[in-house]
Amino acid sequence: MKIGIVGTGMVGSAAGFALALEGVIERLVLVDQNTALARAQAEDIAHAVPFASSVMVDHGDYDALSGAGAVIIAAGVSQKPGETRMQLLDRNAAVFREVVGEIRRVCPDAILLVASNPVDIMTDVTLRLSGLPRERVIGSGTILDTARFRWLLARHLGVAPRSVHAYVLGEHGDTEVLAWSSARVGTVDLSRAAAQVGAPVTAELRERIDTGVRRAAYTIIEGKGATWYGIGAGLSRIVAAIARDEQSVLSVSGRTPNLSAIADVTLSVPRVVGANGIVADLMPDLAPEESEALEASATMLAATAAGVTV
Ligand code: ADP
Repeated sequence: MKIGIVGTGMVGSAAGFALALEGVIERLVLVDQNTALARAQAEDIAHAVPFASSVMVDHGDYDALSGAGAVIIAAGVSQKPGETRMQLLDRNAAVFREVVGEIRRVCPDAILLVASNPVDIMTDVTLRLSGLPRERVIGSGTILDTARFRWLLARHLGVAPRSVHAYVLGEHGDTEVLAWSSARVGTVDLSRAAAQVGAPVTAELRERIDTGVRRAAYTIIEGKGATWYGIGAGLSRIVAAIARDEQSVLSVSGRTPNLSAIADVTLSVPRVVGANGIVADLMPDLAPEESEALEASATMLAATAAGVTV
């Protein structure tokens, strides 16, 4: 499969690097309004290929995306001093008007994979701009928050993160919901598994992990200005599920018609992802306080999305 990446800053290039190492796809094309940057990132990533895979890595203009099966959108502008969140959103919506329009012109059959933040709102904007069916517009959403949750639980329990089944739902951001009540280790309920491995889940641990997941981006940004490796690997994971038609369950952002009282809110729940994009939603059973928190997250996202004109 040929994959495009539009926006080759930290996030777009980290996704490209992860894709080049993983080697699941055949071709990768990098596009950025800063063509010198796209060229440099493509060349740098291409130099990793001989060590890892046989992916063809190029840069180009939008026409070079012709034939892409999926395009990652990681383009965006950053907040100016004094700018409000909604003003920033409006400027990013303007970037997406151009980017989504160009992608749709060149490769109308491509699945759109949105990474730009705030990702749930930008995914909603992309759906509205593209007119694509909901299964073909996917946001990276909480795929990274879910990875952080599993990693922290796994470290506490002394088991591999991939044997921990736990999801973060809702917004990729402050109102996200860690679905503790449905967490499993292997097939065993988290609290019973934790007791069996001698690492009980206390209220203090839950608090620490909840904060660790929710605050992870802030902490990393304090140290290095932005985050990119985790999300780059997460984007590569979603692309692999599409390219190999895996039908894997991943927590990604998408239009969710009947989550709650709110119709058609764009947020993350676990979903089955394959060659056609989102095949099904797999809503876990939630404790009442988790359902309430998810409803609050959905309400906030729906109101924010409604405030953005496309
Ligand atoms: P992040 O850390 O989210 O990756 P960056 O600022 O590093 O953020 O990257 C954003 C990229 O998006 C930049 O390389 C920028 O040139 C690109 N970009 C911004 N607007 C457009 C646009 N209209 N078309 C294509 N690329 C764009």
